[in-house]
Amino acid sequence: MRSTRVLVTGAGGFIGHHLVTYLKARGYWVRGVDLKYPEFSATDADEFEILDLRRWDNSLQATRGVEEVYGLAADMGGMGFISAHHAQILHNNTLINFHTLEAARINGVQRYLFTSSACIYPEYKQTDTNVTPLKEEDAYPAQPQEAYGWEKLITEQLCQHYRREYGLETRIVRFHNIFGPLGTWEGGREKAPAALCRKIAIAKLTGNNEIEIWGDGEQTRSFCYIDDCLTGIFKLMRSDYHEPLNLGQDRLISINELADMIADIAQVKIVKKHVPGPQGVRGRNSDNTRLRQVLNWVPEISLEEGLARTYAWIEDQVRAKLNLGR
Ligand code: NAD
Repeated sequence: MRSTRVLVTGAGGFIGHHLVTYLKARGYWVRGVDLKYPEFSATDADEFEILDLRRWDNSLQATRGVEEVYGLAADMGGMGFISAHHAQILHNNTLINFHTLEAARINGVQRYLFTSSACIYPEYKQTDTNVTPLKEEDAYPAQPQEAYGWEKLITEQLCQHYRREYGLETRIVRFHNIFGPLGTWEGGREKAPAALCRKIAIAKLTGNNEIEIWGDGEQTRSFCYIDDCLTGIFKLMRSDYHEPLNLGQDRLISINELADMIADIAQVKIVKKHVPGPQGVRGRNSDNTRLRQVLNWVPEISLEEGLARTYAWIEDQVRAKLNLGR
């Protein structure tokens, strides 16, 4: 029997690279597309094409001959990056998503999963560290994160209209802070868990125990390990559910607590130095009621376990970069 043929866009990035491996292990034929190859290990894709999905001709090429598309390509990064490049992000991500979705329709793709974000939730619901977890219907009246969040919200709308009017089966997942090994850990696009792992690994390996935290560190988030993210994406794609769905953990933790947890894993004492920096909303958590109902599943890997695996990988990266042996 012929394998189902799927496209993963953003397959050179963190989640896309892991997803290619996950889908290959389940018998799919996979094409990966990205502006770049994965940075930290070779792709498992059957075919990997370097394409720029902002370009219409490239989007048509990427989506040819596949039945399903997992759309993960995006110009994105952590809070430092997405709060400082609004024009670039809104421009690039709009082109990527509008072109890829339309090209998928023209090429007769049957299922299309769009990766949205918790950044679509209104800022007025996230002003307190002890925030009420966000339900899917909280998205409206809309007041999302500037540029990055607005683009995600409008592409959610586009996906829903494509399903209703063209019969393309779209799925929409709203990630809440996914982390794990093989993700960007330096250079300005890294997110809080990777940045903290790097800072703490450097503290451990150099003996300089002071680490910088943006703001007072009391801002809160929930963090979901990559393996749970992959399980959730796959279950959603196979389900009949076509409304937007949260995918994240619902354990709220402050950035200060996250740093302490990583320092415990690294077995190093740290001194936190609070410095000015972008913090995003004051608090954000996922309400997983709908996720549990729809997929009969919620993320299972504990934060401690996920961070231990992530820290070990980042410490190795830092060690190699600092030219330190084991
Ligand atoms: P990532 O930055 O590691 O991967 C995105 C990939 O898209 C990169 O490899 C990048 O090169 C590629 N890309 C950018 N512009 C492109 C273009 N013009 N053409 C082709 N490829 C292009 O990010 P990620 O963490 O793997 O995120 C994947 C998806 O999940 C994105 O849509 C992101 O917005 C969404 N998301 C992620 C998180 C998270 O915590 N990681 C949270 C919310 C939403």
